[in-house]
Parts: sequence; structure tokens; C-alpha cells
Amino acid sequence: MDYEELREILKKAIAVYGKDAQQDMVIEEVSELIKAICKIKRNKNNIAPELKENLYEEIADVLITLEQLIMIYDCDDVVEEYIEKKARRLKERLEQEYKEPILTESERKYLSAVIKPFQEYVMSIEKCHDYLKGTNKIYIQITLADDTVNNLPIFDACDMKFQNMQFDMRYTTIDLGI
Ligand SMILES: [Mg+2]
Repeated sequence: MDYEELREILKKAIAVYGKDAQQDMVIEEVSELIKAICKIKRNKNNIAPELKENLYEEIADVLITLEQLIMIYDCDDVVEEYIEKKARRLKERLEQEYKEPILTESERKYLSAVIKPFQEYVMSIEKCHDYLKGTNKIYIQITLADDTVNNLPIFDACDMKFQNMQFDMRYTTIDLGI
């Protein structure tokens, strides 16, 4: 069935049952879809095929009734504009939220193993230069809540470790994902 044919049928339904009744249908179908989603979520570890089938059916019901709601209010252009506007906003929000992880997986594992015994006391983690030993000598400094400073073994800049950490920036464990 093509879209035009579907619209013809829905137009007839509105004419036969009335705008009021078809709006009640939206309410009813949306509540059935809510129930279907709740059932799926309650059984998320073992979703029975009939629960999935029920979900698909309720999605279809809601789409059909929403299509009628759009026809009743003759608002397809406005709805389309809203969809575009909201999708654009969502895209922007996603772009802001996505941050490249600072540590590689092995750096993250290493640091979380090191700080594990005192993780809750870690105030900050910094990447520092050890200028006394040479400009290309680098180490990681961990500062605890009581201002105790712990320096991890020095490594060479050419080892390419902790590349994405900026120098002398105080990172929290949350920043680093550990
Ligand atoms: Mg239904």
C-alpha cells in the first residue's frame, strides 16, 4: 500500500468516526504503546517474541493514529518543521557531549590499577615535565586529598604515552574516565 492510499483510508476513518473519536484513539493507542514499552523493559533480560510483536503492533497503531491527528489539524508542514528543528538541536547537543577519551584503553587500565588502593582520595592527576632530568622527560603526578603528591616513574616523550593529556592540567578521575 502506498502513502496516498493510506491517507485516503485514514481520511475516511475521520469522516466516519469523527474527529473527536479519532483523537480519543490517539490517547488510547499511546497508552497501549507505553504499556508495551514497560513490559519490554521489565523483561529486558529475556524478551519473549510475543512482547516484541506486541511492541511493533502498538508502534504501528500510534503511527496510524498520529497520522490522523496530523490530518485533523492539517499541520504536516508545521510538524515537519518541528521535527527538523528538534533533530538539529539534538545533533548539536550530541556534538557538544561527545568528547574524545583522554586516555587510551591501556593507559586507563594502568592508571586505574595504580590508584585503586586510594582512588577515593585522588584529587587530581597531572602530566608534568621533569626539567631537571631533561625537557623530554615526563611523569604523571597524583595528588591526594591530604596534599600528598605521588609521582609515577618518569618516561620519555618519544614513548608517546598519555599523548592526549595536556601538561600541567589537573584532571579528576572522572575527566579521565577511571
Ligand atoms: Mg493498539
